[in-house]
Parts: sequence; C-alpha cells; structure tokens
Amino acid sequence: MTSPQPIAADRSTGSRTLESALREGVHALELHSDSPHLDAEVLLSSALGIGRSALIARGSDLLADHDLRVYRSLLAERRRGTPVAYLTSRREFWSLPLKVTPAVLVPRPETERLVEAALQHLPESEERAVLDLGTGSGAVALAIASERPRARVVGTDVSKDALSVARDNARSLALSNVTFRSGSWFDAVRGEVFDVVVSNPPYVADRDPALAALAAEPALALVAGPAGLDALEAIIAEAPRHLTHGGWLLLEHGSTQEHAVAQLLERAGFAGIECHSDYSALPRVTRGTFSPPLKERT
Ligand code: GLN
Repeated sequence: MTSPQPIAADRSTGSRTLESALREGVHALELHSDSPHLDAEVLLSSALGIGRSALIARGSDLLADHDLRVYRSLLAERRRGTPVAYLTSRREFWSLPLKVTPAVLVPRPETERLVEAALQHLPESEERAVLDLGTGSGAVALAIASERPRARVVGTDVSKDALSVARDNARSLALSNVTFRSGSWFDAVRGEVFDVVVSNPPYVADRDPALAALAAEPALALVAGPAGLDALEAIIAEAPRHLTHGGWLLLEHGSTQEHAVAQLLERAGFAGIECHSDYSALPRVTRGTFSPPLKERT
C-alpha cells in the first residue's frame, strides 16, 4: 500500500498556515489523546514560543520550516504517549506556573482538592508548620505556601531529581516559606512535629491496567504494592509521631480506597475521619486528626 496523497502533501513545508497546522495536529492526535484540540494548540504555541491566544489571532500566518519541523516532532512524541506537560516542561497547578520534567508526576487537577482541604486547617493569620510528603514538583507544598505566607512548609521526596524541580519552582515563584528535603516519607524530619501533614503518595495497584497509559510518568510516584495501599499505610503508621496534638493528616488516594484508608486511620488512633470528593465527584481526599486523650489532670 502507498501512503495516501494528502499526507505526502502535508509533509511539504513552507505552505502551512498556523490554522492548517492546527488542523493537522488535531487529526494526528485524535486517536492518541482525550484532548486533541487543546494538545495541538499547546504544542504549536510551544513550538512558536507564543501564547495560545496569539495563535488564534495569527491563524492565517505562514509557519516557518523550522517551526513546522519542531511542531511535528512534538506531535510525534505526543502520539507515542508523552504527556503534553513533559513536552512543554510546564504545567499550571493552583494557578501557579510550574516546571515539570519526567522526574515528577504531572500535577493533576484533583490534587487541588488536597490543597483546598489542607487550607481549611491553616488559619491565615497563624504561623503553622506544614509537611508535604512525596512532594514531586512541589505542587502541593508551593500552593499551600503561596496561600499561607505565614506558614512554614517542608516538602520531602526520595527522588533527588524531583527535589531539584521542586526547588527550581520555589525559586521561580519567589516563595521563601517553603523548603525541600531529601528522604523517604518522614526520614528527613526525624523528631519534628507539624500541624498539618499532607501527601499525594503513589496509590495505584501494581497490576492496575490503567498504568499502561501512565508509562511516561515515574512509577515511584504512582505504584504502591498489590492494592496500591503500601505508601498510604506507611505514612498513616508513622504520622502520629509527627503531628502536634490535634494536628491533621490529609491524604489523596484512589477513588476505591476510601474505606481502606478510613480503616487504617481509625486503627492508628485518628478521629474526625472524613472523605472529600474530587471535582469529578469521586472519593479522593481523606483527613483525620490525631489527638490522643491528654493525661488526666489532678
Ligand atoms: N491520580 C493519579 C492517576 O491515577 C495517580 C496519582 C498517584 O498515584 N498519586 O492518574
């Protein structure tokens, strides 16, 4: 079989307008993305170094050969399953422009729910200590730090490459009330207590077929044992030693893990356990407070 003629014509350079390049991109991504239009727009903007609105305004401009080649190679990468955020190295989270690399999970909109829930326990006028475990790009820690300038936020991660992304983000956002430390879960904060501990740990089961679509992202940030509960279990077990009296632990988890997480929290002595749904109405974030009875006063 020979290639159909229109494709061969498409490969010619120098005669593409931005508008027709966009159409080519949407067509190329149709079977490879849930959002082909948005992806094509973002990739073309990135190839040209202009904003998405400028792209629309300049729809009838011709595309230079070099830009077209860059754009087509981005489309090819996207077709192979690379997330758009890795191709542009950018992702917005909580309205903060973040740098992302393949060393970190691409921040998800549902994780903004974790930030929202944590902020409820952080009065604006008070100095509180906050810990974000498995911080990755720093998304959650940075969002909290930006909303609560008086809070002192620590983010930890076992991946040094992730920490360097998180630190770059803190620098470019000029947030000085957040620091990042290297270590697995609580290892980097031995002997320290926090008013609020948050985490979006890995929670996907190791044989979950959904992992096939997430192959470009670090398994370390996604996969957690046969039921996806290993990291959540480890965090819940150790959290009581790192919470102030009446402090809160807030955890993102899978949409079918709500009861398992509540049970783990209960067994570890947490109270006030409550699950919040995400913006797709799926159970996503569970919180609990640790306040063992104080010794009876005489
Ligand atoms: N919510 C992510 C997904 O299923 C998983 C993130 C995580 O494991 N922390 O795509």
